[in-house]
Amino acid sequence: MTVKIDDEKCGHISNCPADGLCILICEQQALIEENNDVKVVDENCNDCGLCISNCPNQAIVQS
Ligand code: SF4
Ligand code: SF4
Repeated sequence: MTVKIDDEKCGHISNCPADGLCILICEQQALIEENNDVKVVDENCNDCGLCISNCPNQAIVQS
């Protein structure tokens, strides 16, 4: 399993109310910045759910 970012809810990292918090709190380096957007590195995600519960825009869902 992995997670999916809803681009409409996330917007760009520069618009994130939490300054890209999801990238900072992912302990598996499964979320990285790419061209001011969040990219998921599927093979690194262990489904801990931290990013899902901490995104202020509810932009991250399990996939
Ligand atoms: S915390 Fe949510 S809104 Fe902020 S960059 Fe991550 S996915 Fe986007
Ligand atoms: S669910 Fe956990 S491991 Fe997967 S991207 Fe989110 S914080 Fe990282």
